[in-house]
Amino acid sequence: MTASTADIAPTLFAWYGQHARNLPWRAQPGKAAPDPYRVWLSEVMLQQTTVAAVRPYFARFTARWPNVAALAAAPEEEVMAAWAGLGYYSRARNLVKCARKVTEMGGFPQTEAELLRLPGVGAYTAAAIAAIAFGRRAVVVDANVERVVSRLFAISEPLPKARKVIREKTDAITPDPRAGDFAQALMDLGATICTARDPKCSLCPLSGKCVAHKNSEAALYPVKAPKKAKPLRMGTAWWIERAGSVWLVTRDRTGMLGGMRALPDDGWSAGSDGSSMAPLDIIAQHQGVVRHTFTHFALEMAVERIMLPNDVQPPGKGEWWPVAGLDKAGLPTLFAKAARLVRAAD
Ligand code: SF4
Repeated sequence: MTASTADIAPTLFAWYGQHARNLPWRAQPGKAAPDPYRVWLSEVMLQQTTVAAVRPYFARFTARWPNVAALAAAPEEEVMAAWAGLGYYSRARNLVKCARKVTEMGGFPQTEAELLRLPGVGAYTAAAIAAIAFGRRAVVVDANVERVVSRLFAISEPLPKARKVIREKTDAITPDPRAGDFAQALMDLGATICTARDPKCSLCPLSGKCVAHKNSEAALYPVKAPKKAKPLRMGTAWWIERAGSVWLVTRDRTGMLGGMRALPDDGWSAGSDGSSMAPLDIIAQHQGVVRHTFTHFALEMAVERIMLPNDVQPPGKGEWWPVAGLDKAGLPTLFAKAARLVRAAD
């Protein structure tokens, strides 16, 4: 059994017409393309992040910065603070750079090749913007599409190596007109029917063309290479308090969580990714440990609390921030967890 453009696209479009997800950055099937700014912003936010987590951030960003020129004019630290909690902070830094570049250019370019030259825009995002915002034929492969296509064709090679053949197969079934709708339809099918666990094959419009389903092996795909355990790093962060305020530093722009407000820390062992703090000669109270997983390592960070006397200088360059308004500081998730730990003990 083989699947081709002629087989797949019309069947999928018929299903998409009835079942498209209603997402704030989307145009409904067959309608005028959405604003490229909204497509770009949503695609950057959705990298490694779920739709549910992105929705409130997307609403806040578009209310505050309704177009690319408004975002380009925003101070970087405000954008970083608004991004806090979404993770992968290099995306936020590139967001500002890209908005400034696009504004300089007078608008988003329309081809994949030109889009790829923008800061923070990789192959997937370029293809998604070209197809969804500009109606160009582009092959758009995200994790949902990867799963659907690997099942449709029963691709036995494990990920990540299988990406080449998945892309070729996706290319073979992508139509020229409505490539953007096709990509979104495949994504929606993956998100709602061809799910990672318990795919609902009995509801799937493509079940008659799906090799994995025919062999009753949908759950075997996509095949994945075994995961390597992430290395563990240890660290310490200090909650330094005085008169109802806590001392926050701004992290070095070039390291992990660069440019973000944070508690001072020791740089975390086995690397110099954190900003480091010289120890203060004051007894600290241990508050507990927070755990956080980054892309390449896991971190266990002890949190120590210090009540700083008026005659002692806090470490590094920073600012006193009222504890009561800490939710407005834009702390990244790791340090927001540390703050919650301390405040839970109060
Ligand atoms: Fe996925 Fe099942 Fe549809 Fe195949 S038939 S694409 S496995 S939901």
